[in-house]
Amino acid sequence: MKRALFLASGLAAIGLTVGMLTSPASGAPVTDGPLSGVVIALDAGHQLGNSNPEFFDELSRTHFNGVETKSCNTTGTATNGGYPEATFNWKVTKQVKKRLRALGATVKMTRHSNSYSKWGPCVDKRGSFGQKVGADLMLSVHADGAASSGYGFYVMAPAVVPGWTDDIAKASGRAAKRFVSAMAAAGAPRSTYISGQILVTSSISTLNFSDVPVLLLESGNMRNASDAARMTSRSGQAQYADWIVAGVRAAVKR
Ligand SMILES: [Zn+2]
Repeated sequence: MKRALFLASGLAAIGLTVGMLTSPASGAPVTDGPLSGVVIALDAGHQLGNSNPEFFDELSRTHFNGVETKSCNTTGTATNGGYPEATFNWKVTKQVKKRLRALGATVKMTRHSNSYSKWGPCVDKRGSFGQKVGADLMLSVHADGAASSGYGFYVMAPAVVPGWTDDIAKASGRAAKRFVSAMAAAGAPRSTYISGQILVTSSISTLNFSDVPVLLLESGNMRNASDAARMTSRSGQAQYADWIVAGVRAAVKR
């Protein structure tokens, strides 16, 4: 109570009212939903400004991920029509956040904008975000840029990298299986080019830096015409959000 009074008077002092800071959409988490008590870390892959030459030096910073030294982050891919992956990731992740919150989850995001004048965060920050916010699951949302004949989603899960992922590889693998089954059952087309729709890998920094179960989703192939059509439409993005939420619920078993 003391804290609330202090906050209210503090805000008054700087000319704001509490009403200005709250809205129905940003209210308190649902306390009796199926995901109440669950914390999900969401990472919308890349950032629009990663392709801005102004940030070349920042994006060139390197980090060792337990296996290899990689750059801060990349631009991500795009559809043949030029729709950026960063924008797809951002729009879908925002919708996923809204849906998970409505189910009671606490949701934390690694970035809060999609802007040509912003960059990062770097993969080490993204990868260690889950433990920073006490997440039960960290999900990084991406889209692939593969040969145009292939389509559909798959997930990447961390391989065992001693001293890095040995603590979370098993739980992440379990989460990956549940996520894939549920996302496919919800209607998402399975990848035609990744067998079993799970790629266990030691080369992804976002996975290696995590200390909580972590998955990286390639939602579909942006270079494939039918996936690209879905990824660039409002209704298609809403479909992806529904499918991803089904995957998350299964992965955390709720
Ligand atoms: Zn990506």
